[in-house]
Amino acid sequence: LLVCCLVSVTEAEYLKYKDPKQPLRVRIKDLLKRMTLEEKIGQMVQIERSLATPDVMKKYFIGSVLSGGGSVPAAKASAVQWVQMVNEIQKGALSTRLGIPMIYGIDAVHGHNNVYKATIFPHNVGLGVTRDPILIKKIGDATALEVRATGIPYAFAPCIAVCRDPRWGRCYESYSEDPKIVRAMTEIIPGLQGDIPANSRKGVPFVAGKTKVAACAKHYLGDGGTTKGINENNTVISYNGLLSIHMPAYYDSIIKGVATVMISYSSWDGIKMHANHDLITGYLKNKLQFRGFVISDWEGIDRITSPPHANYSYSIQASVSAGIDMIMVPYTYTEFIDGLTYQVKNNIIPISRIDDAVARILRVKFVLGLFENPLADFSLVNQVGSKEHRELAREAVRKSLVLLKNGKSATYPLLPLPKKAAKVLVAGSHANNLGSQCGGWTITWQGLGGNDLTTGTTILDAVKSTVDPTTKVVYNENPDANFIKSNKFSYAIVVVGEPPYAETFGDSLNLTIPEPGLSTITNVCGSIKCVVVLITGRPVVIQPYLSTIDALVAAWLPGTEGQGVADLLFGDYGFTGKLARTWFKTVDQLPMNVGDRHYDPLFPFGFGLTTKPTKY
Ligand code: BGC
Repeated sequence: LLVCCLVSVTEAEYLKYKDPKQPLRVRIKDLLKRMTLEEKIGQMVQIERSLATPDVMKKYFIGSVLSGGGSVPAAKASAVQWVQMVNEIQKGALSTRLGIPMIYGIDAVHGHNNVYKATIFPHNVGLGVTRDPILIKKIGDATALEVRATGIPYAFAPCIAVCRDPRWGRCYESYSEDPKIVRAMTEIIPGLQGDIPANSRKGVPFVAGKTKVAACAKHYLGDGGTTKGINENNTVISYNGLLSIHMPAYYDSIIKGVATVMISYSSWDGIKMHANHDLITGYLKNKLQFRGFVISDWEGIDRITSPPHANYSYSIQASVSAGIDMIMVPYTYTEFIDGLTYQVKNNIIPISRIDDAVARILRVKFVLGLFENPLADFSLVNQVGSKEHRELAREAVRKSLVLLKNGKSATYPLLPLPKKAAKVLVAGSHANNLGSQCGGWTITWQGLGGNDLTTGTTILDAVKSTVDPTTKVVYNENPDANFIKSNKFSYAIVVVGEPPYAETFGDSLNLTIPEPGLSTITNVCGSIKCVVVLITGRPVVIQPYLSTIDALVAAWLPGTEGQGVADLLFGDYGFTGKLARTWFKTVDQLPMNVGDRHYDPLFPFGFGLTTKPTKY
């Protein structure tokens, strides 16, 4: 009796894995050896938040939970509500035998974009234009703070896709068609996670503390290279091409200590990435020595077969054997758990593979400090949408715009616009539309037009607050000829573009600006001196309209801080942005990237006019 009790008392007093003074590998080894197969497989499962009741967390030992695009606790939920929601789920995980904390993940891809009142930064297509790694790192820093403020330690960002074809509906999530720019932009990783210490071992993930989050480089590999830009399609490129275009940013991400890598839905050379052992285990884990965890995409393993979920036991076997460690939204998670348990028990998948997956997941959780601080407090809630972060986003907007045309001839530039003018027209579907300015992945998955979804400054508001108090600003979304004739406007600002979209829904073969955008351009620019501001996730067809337009600005998807656009239009700051994508003449030229033999763009990669700030 004495012996039994002494052992259990000693155990209760000292568990190596709970001791932060123990080296990482000792903690992982200690915990792993205590875990049952059931507990291990549970760690590999990431479920959607609405399924994550405390009971489910406890019963299945679930390792991770996510808010997929737009899966929020309540409409306009506050940071405090988010913290409460995450903690509630966490308590379920902590109530298990070993008390292993779950890791909660979210798509914070342009700021903390699922959260009402958060700062929404320009989408990556605009950030690539800045070519400013220091700025991008600061954005990572601010985003991490806002994400942590809501109790969340893990962001599914950055997307380091190299978008080679703007017909792809995710092109705006890509910094550039040029791998060099995408590489430079991986500076967002030390922003999100903190600077990796000088003596770190290559490939070991690093997160600096309670104001930082684990990042996720996605989507491995070749997501931006699919045929015709069709989402989740096959990427046809040589092995050398794959390594020189799509791989380099992963190399940098790993050097910078990225905690996780997400697998792409797409295929390379006809093989689904979710089943590609050579590239996941062979290249990422063995050659690049990545020691964080590899996560699947949402129901990604289902899509290994066509149609999806046609042979789930094959999906489980192929993906886990390929080297995927955590399965995002296995459908259903009980089917996954049962299937994987069966395969391990029947030696189809060796237990060493499971141990490797779990060790990686635990490593990230230890590095994040989740064992020491599993429950979030409310100390950071005021960081969400702070004045400082909005200022930073406004600066990013200013650096991300590209001036493509300025006046019918260089001698008569239209920009900067005079602040003092009798009457100014602001027109176009996107002039007074915060939702369109933010694009997809904003509050909802697909994004949403209108001014109600979150707080920020529309371009119309920004113009009004920038012009001289004596200047009359008239807003008409789509003015007809009579309206234009009956007013004497000094000049017009026309803001048009694409509606918000995400993923497959944004795939487009024609890349035209939808009506009434084009008629607004022709109606207004045919009669008044006009600057057209394009709110788009990518270059669009503009050549046929170019001669009627006096000045043309690519503003991409600038986010909540529309004031940054007015800062440039009226010359408080100068335009500096240079295209990080090639602007095509016609869609039948696509794909066309800088360096191609038959390069014949409307505006070449690197193009961008400048203006000097005006002194008033
Ligand atoms: C997307 C990922 C995203 C995930 C979770 C998927 O559909 O491809 O980029 O991180 O959903 O929302």
